[in-house]
Amino acid sequence: MITLMNKLDDENYIIQQRDVLDVADAFIRENHFDEFLKDVDFKQEINGIGHYDANKRVIFFNENKILEKCYSLYNSLLSHHDIDENYDTYFINFYYLFILYHEFAHVLRKVKYENSFNEENIYTYLYEMCVTMIDKDRDFYTKNHQFFPIEIEANNIGFYKAYSLMSYTKLPAKECKVMQYQYLKSLLRNYQKVDGSKIITPIEKLAEMKEDVDLDKIIDLSSHENIPRSERLNLGLPISLKEYDGIAKEKQKLLVK
Ligand SMILES: [Zn+2]
Repeated sequence: MITLMNKLDDENYIIQQRDVLDVADAFIRENHFDEFLKDVDFKQEINGIGHYDANKRVIFFNENKILEKCYSLYNSLLSHHDIDENYDTYFINFYYLFILYHEFAHVLRKVKYENSFNEENIYTYLYEMCVTMIDKDRDFYTKNHQFFPIEIEANNIGFYKAYSLMSYTKLPAKECKVMQYQYLKSLLRNYQKVDGSKIITPIEKLAEMKEDVDLDKIIDLSSHENIPRSERLNLGLPISLKEYDGIAKEKQKLLVK
């Protein structure tokens, strides 16, 4: 990790396959995850950007598509923020790390919840609900993945990890703020404020589209536990209007003119 951190500090460096393999190796070794992940594969043709195949214990990445996505995210960033174009590689690496840690987050959840299903526990209940839906209707899942708790969580973990790693680099404070802004933006991405007074949550949107999502049960389970705001955001569960406005305000403050 230290070597990758040194490389990330170089404004001309873009993460290479070798770095990804090193990070994955360390991730597997340190956590003893061999049973869940044994390899990262860049060779096989895949449709998307990245994908964790739990049966094969492999994370597949399509490097061309990753870079394409990173550049397009960076370009959209450029049109919204006044950032110094000399720091483009930092943002490319930021998005690259986001994509990597998104897939690692899927592995982490599988390790944690795979064999601990308990219908009365909100975390394992939601995990199982997602996994079952992937099996039953993969097309629906692919089309609407942004509303699924495991995908929202993987995005949030990915962004948080990428932001944490990149905040150790020589990136100027202004550009660092833009990264933090992106992270907060991703937290609220699928929450929608309507009529200035109501927050529609991702899990409600999912329940609207799929009748086998038992919204009453989910609300009931989540109200039994004192789930912190960060975890409710990770799972697309209800947050209060005050919490929503708090994050939106924090985000707004980071907007660099
Ligand atoms: Zn995912």
